[in-house]
Amino acid sequence: MSDYDYDLFVIGGGSAGVRCARISAGYGARVAIAEERFWGGTCVNVGCVPKKIMVQAAEYGMWAADAPAFGWEATAPRHDWAALARARNAEVARLSGIYRRLLEGAGAAVFEGRARLAGPHEIEVGGRRIRAERILIATGGRPSRPAIPGAELGLVSDDLFTLPALPRRAVVVGGGYIAMEFACILKGLGAEVEVVCRGALPLRGFDEDIRAALAEALAAQGIALTADASPTRLGRAASGLLLELSGGAVREADAVFFATGRVPNTQGLGLEAAGVATDGRGAIRVDEDHRTTVPHIYALGDVIDRLNLTPMATAAGHALADTLFGGRPRRPSYDNVPTAVFTSPPVACVGLTEAEAAERGPAEIYLTRFTPMRHTITGRPGRRTLMKLVVCARTRKVLGAHMLGEDAPEILQGIAIALVAGATKEDFDRTIGIHPTAVEEFVTLRSPARRVG
Ligand code: FAD
Ligand code: NDP
Repeated sequence: MSDYDYDLFVIGGGSAGVRCARISAGYGARVAIAEERFWGGTCVNVGCVPKKIMVQAAEYGMWAADAPAFGWEATAPRHDWAALARARNAEVARLSGIYRRLLEGAGAAVFEGRARLAGPHEIEVGGRRIRAERILIATGGRPSRPAIPGAELGLVSDDLFTLPALPRRAVVVGGGYIAMEFACILKGLGAEVEVVCRGALPLRGFDEDIRAALAEALAAQGIALTADASPTRLGRAASGLLLELSGGAVREADAVFFATGRVPNTQGLGLEAAGVATDGRGAIRVDEDHRTTVPHIYALGDVIDRLNLTPMATAAGHALADTLFGGRPRRPSYDNVPTAVFTSPPVACVGLTEAEAAERGPAEIYLTRFTPMRHTITGRPGRRTLMKLVVCARTRKVLGAHMLGEDAPEILQGIAIALVAGATKEDFDRTIGIHPTAVEEFVTLRSPARRVG
């Protein structure tokens, strides 16, 4: 009989921790899991789920406004923030409850409280000291504010989900996923929105054509974009807040959101007590098997700050459970992971950007831009779809697919399967389209727009 209380102790009941704990317990391992704030973690409580509900709420406003173009007689819609908050919060509570019940159903011991490492095999939680043969750290991350005077007066992403009312004038600082999504949500629900982004275009790291097309789409819907600017100070104004920017410009707003990145939750975790090393940003260092510098302590999900997406966290958690207790050692692949930014219209992509492909060798770029059928009728500006394939000129394999346009996330999930399977451009070409759709364009891109690399 082992002298450990558990085979595996998981710290953090988010996407990564819950999946690993649940699957491990299902294999018969003795598993415990601690969660200090909310079951289901960021994704369920202050991330993907409540965000997507807000995105959908904003879409209804657009559809209502567009309906007369299709013959509907409609009065100007009025949005009720409190009604949306009730519906959203109820769904979040339902899902969070499901996460907890799944763990209990699988036979995992559930601790509600903050856990910390007290030694290489010891965890402290709720005044108890527990010994575990293996430990998984899946504590995720949290929003970070820029280091400027008055930063505490600004909001972070968590705050969108507790705001009592829609701010009339909002400034969103940042040019990443959250900045883009929040700007479109707030604008779609009726706020005046400005994005302040320190790069020339938002979404650094995404394909350049997509970045430029998204900036156009933001402008067309009346979201102001101030590029190449950083916040320097936030203070109170006679009514609202005063944000000072590099270069001396000043903005008055009712709410300032700092969407300036997230930091791993590793402070006060007792990592030193166990000998677990972190990098300069506080992310836990791991090898390809998600082992930390202490071989029986693992870390995955946002706390390793590698690809901070829910499906990556759950895939890594599942693979670890299979490896440790399922007799099926495997590693999740961090390549060809599709991702979407739920802007209006949304962005989605998988694989290499044009610039990344060009660095690796010659590539052909296939590109199309068109107004989707719906918006030839509505005439709504800024709704042009962009689709792009990046093809290796030597192997003919499709290395990257990128889209800005309605349903892009739903479309790119299927395209990602083709990339993961190693499909060539000719495989795309011999696939028959579904008509009339936007996605059929991905299988009818005939001539390259350019060759690069
Ligand atoms: P988390 O989900 O953050 O879970 C970590 C858990 O650990 C938390 O519940 C925390 O309370 C708990 N914890 C921390 N420290 C301790 C401790 N010492 N003791 C006990 N418990 C502790 N990803 C997508 O794929 N699609 C999206 O659309 C998307 N939208 C997002 C929108 C927003 C606004 C944000 C912020 C994120 C979004 N993400 C999205 C990212 C996604 O939410 C994360 O990648 C994912 O939640 C990471 O899962 P995790 O398990 O690593 O961490
Ligand atoms: P990101 O890393 O995506 O973006 C952070 C942005 O803030 C960047 O534009 C960055 O600029 C800018 N920035 C950072 N520091 C400063 C500063 N001091 N002053 C001004 N600007 C600054 O982080 P997010 O917070 O948007 O999201 C965190 C992560 O969560 C994402 O990377 C993603 O992995 C995940 N997420 C996923 C979503 C999805 O799948 N749909 C949705 C939301 C979040 P620069 O680019 O120049 O560094």
